[in-house]
Amino acid sequence: MIRHGTNSFLDMAKHAGRIVRFGQRYIARYFAKGRFTPRRVPSLSIETTNICNSDCVFCANSVMTRRKLSIDMELFKTIVDDFALNGGTDIDFTDTIGDPLLDKKLVERGRYVRRYPQFQSLGFVSTLQWLHMHELDSLIEKITWVGVSITLSGRESYKKFFGVDKYDVALGNLRKLLDAIKAKNANFFVGLSIKPTDENDEAILSHPDFIEINNRMGGSLAQMVRERTFLVDDWQGAVQLPDYLKRRPLYPRAFRPCQMLYDKLMVYSNGKVSACSCRDFEADSDLILGHAGESGILELWNSNRLQALRHDWRLKNRVPKICKSCRHYLY
Ligand code: SF4
Ligand code: SF4
Repeated sequence: MIRHGTNSFLDMAKHAGRIVRFGQRYIARYFAKGRFTPRRVPSLSIETTNICNSDCVFCANSVMTRRKLSIDMELFKTIVDDFALNGGTDIDFTDTIGDPLLDKKLVERGRYVRRYPQFQSLGFVSTLQWLHMHELDSLIEKITWVGVSITLSGRESYKKFFGVDKYDVALGNLRKLLDAIKAKNANFFVGLSIKPTDENDEAILSHPDFIEINNRMGGSLAQMVRERTFLVDDWQGAVQLPDYLKRRPLYPRAFRPCQMLYDKLMVYSNGKVSACSCRDFEADSDLILGHAGESGILELWNSNRLQALRHDWRLKNRVPKICKSCRHYLY
């Protein structure tokens, strides 16, 4: 009994400590210099494709109805040229939904972006299931980083999370990528994101594939497993999460526009431009600013529309509908 009481007290103290630390961060960020000042030139994400064959347990891919396509090459070039000539320096191939490796022209696009010396960094997030569709040396030459979504504890748990039986292919491709980087001594960053499954820590940490890849990554993955979060977003209720995943808290956001609105723009594979790359899987929310074929990136960044979005949220507490229930809100 005494032990139980002590544990409860410690749990309460830890919980209270977390709330206090959150409160401190929440206040400090509000007053941080430049918190509500947009960058002069945003960073830019181009969703090269919204095609993805996986069906991850926490993703809206299976309910997305917008047309699946890769971005038109001429439009892509126009966007990159316009962005570069207007002082853009940060660009990536991040998508809202999609696997960039399913875009046949990925390397060609990489080559086009890297013609501009100011774009030193270029990367994307992928499952690596389709790495073999591309010539690896050319990819490593033009792309500088990749964030890999994966599990490392066997075929069954992979299939359960990703909805496809591609563990062996994804793992084999990861090995090939790590080998190629090593052989070429390439300046290429691989960041692994081990996805949350319903296994306990030990089942993952003791799996031979985990041990092998963890060793190759310098031992950095064990902490990631121990600290992995089971709190995710459910895409405005569009995704029915499995029992072991919970929704992230909805942080208070009154009169406090999301930081995303001050930082970057997103071009969808259909050419629509949005103030945020995060949750709008249909590309039809209040955050859509226009079309990249009709307006330049800087023009949209400085548009009355985007200024009004920030202003109305900050001064009148008019929060865009999609942002009201978004659990990726950046305070
Ligand atoms: S989370 Fe990524 S890999 Fe998984 S289904 Fe969605 S887009 Fe595809
Ligand atoms: S609240 Fe969510 S949808 Fe809205 S701008 Fe922020 S990240 Fe994007």
